[in-house]
Amino acid sequence: MFIKQREVPSELKITRFLQHRMNWTEKETRQLVYDEKGFEGEVFVDHLIEKFPDDNYLAIGDFLFEFNSSYAQIDTLLLMANKLILFEIKNKEGDHYYEEGKLFTASGYELKSPFEQSDRAEALFRKKLQSFGIKIPIDSYILFVHPEFTLYQAPMTIRKLVLPTQLNAFFKKLEANLSPVSRKQIDLSQKLLNFHQPDSPFKRLPNYTYEELKKGLYCESCTNFSLSPSDKKIVCQTCKHEESIKHAVLRGVEEFHILFPNHKITLSRIKDWCRLEISDRSYQHVLSSNLVVKNHGRYSYYILAEKTYRKV
Ligand SMILES: [Zn+2]
Repeated sequence: MFIKQREVPSELKITRFLQHRMNWTEKETRQLVYDEKGFEGEVFVDHLIEKFPDDNYLAIGDFLFEFNSSYAQIDTLLLMANKLILFEIKNKEGDHYYEEGKLFTASGYELKSPFEQSDRAEALFRKKLQSFGIKIPIDSYILFVHPEFTLYQAPMTIRKLVLPTQLNAFFKKLEANLSPVSRKQIDLSQKLLNFHQPDSPFKRLPNYTYEELKKGLYCESCTNFSLSPSDKKIVCQTCKHEESIKHAVLRGVEEFHILFPNHKITLSRIKDWCRLEISDRSYQHVLSSNLVVKNHGRYSYYILAEKTYRKV
């Protein structure tokens, strides 16, 4: 089982929202497409791992750790009975070629080397484990998961590399080597989880302020800003998608909170953010029945309880 599930990285969540609310450059669009694709590839591998019998593996999705002020990220960490496996996952497509440890596109553009990236993460992880007196062999693999990815000139001696056509056989072999998870593995997994740093130092976010962002809610289906209330529902005038007032307002609250975690959630703020033509009472009803009220009267504000997210 996954002892830490992969989540949509906060950076990706934020940029997904921002693209609808500010002028978005071509470069930012490319970065967003790239990040979405990377995330998709990682989720794809999660599904392959989840096909293993639940009691026979422990895995950690998106593991970020620090050692001596250096950070490294491991897309997926799999704990086997007698070793740890680190996965670096790539979802690139098209023709590429390999030359002296480097990766190039067919047109000769050199990409950031996944081989160096994986070596560095593995070396740092080894040091981290050593510093805690943890002795266990480590294997690492670079998985290229896109079915339309081709790599020319890759020598068969690169043991780390798993190409799309090899993925099934690779996971079958892994599965054949699994055995029921032991107490020792569970203890180790807990130690490793404690190394995980939830806040990534690698965030690259565009600068934005509340004032400059486009306000209002966009349709969750077609992303047009064309929502109107109709018969106790919110209806998109473009694609006719319907959602409840509660769902729409909570969606707005969650987006506002993710974009501006330090701003207080107040009635007036949420009204300004969502700009739905519904009464104050309707807003207030959704806020007070789904969020936790702090203070009262003029200075009241709301905080999101953990469970509010799941309702959205
Ligand atoms: Zn729509």
